[in-house]
Amino acid sequence: MHLVFLGPPACGKGTQSAALVKKFGYYHLSTGDLMRKEIATDSALGKMLKKNIETGVLAASEIVNELLKKDIENNRQKSILFDGYPRKVDQAEYLDAVLKENKSTLKQVFYFDIDAEELFQRILSRITCKACEAVYNLQTNPPKEDGVCDSCGSHDLVKRGDDNEEILKNRIKSFYEETAPLREFYQKRGILTVIDARAPVEIVTEQIVNAL
Ligand code: AMP
Repeated sequence: MHLVFLGPPACGKGTQSAALVKKFGYYHLSTGDLMRKEIATDSALGKMLKKNIETGVLAASEIVNELLKKDIENNRQKSILFDGYPRKVDQAEYLDAVLKENKSTLKQVFYFDIDAEELFQRILSRITCKACEAVYNLQTNPPKEDGVCDSCGSHDLVKRGDDNEEILKNRIKSFYEETAPLREFYQKRGILTVIDARAPVEIVTEQIVNAL
């Protein structure tokens, strides 16, 4: 049965998705990743989506819905973990409809609770290894040796393109204005679990696993 991770940028959804995929074998469906794949093909659609990723403004639901539907249909037999979708009430309704067509339903929705101030701190001090994509936080989880990746030894530790203050403001704004109302949407349906996303990574995983 399928799960949704709902939360603002840098709340830890990606890290927790990786943990659940490893532990339980969920299929991780991230609409951000689907968009980045489309952009990599250099298609006309990809060129449109690139603007959204670069500015942090949500893409049109009709486009994201198409990418989502195709991916759900390609993974019909699997339990899916939705990360970054739905981001609006109309998308939540669309997800219901597509799952129904596939004779399936959502089991649970996890809301990652964290305040905006902490998100700024996390993102602005986040660096990524260009070689192996390991993620570090200069304040809370720095590499052991300054400027050197613990995992692969590369010296290429960089900030992600959309981890800057201006884009981050847009991403956080769109979360609170358009996505946060989904908390009530799923609460009314009785499938919402709120977790404390300020806790250390392993504790957040524990909260999720215990609630499943
Ligand atoms: P993410 O990797 O989930 O942080 O997504 C990166 C960017 O892709 C977001 O800032 C949005 O511009 C766009 N995006 C991802 N998922 C959606 C969605 N479900 N609806 C609209 N835009 C999306």
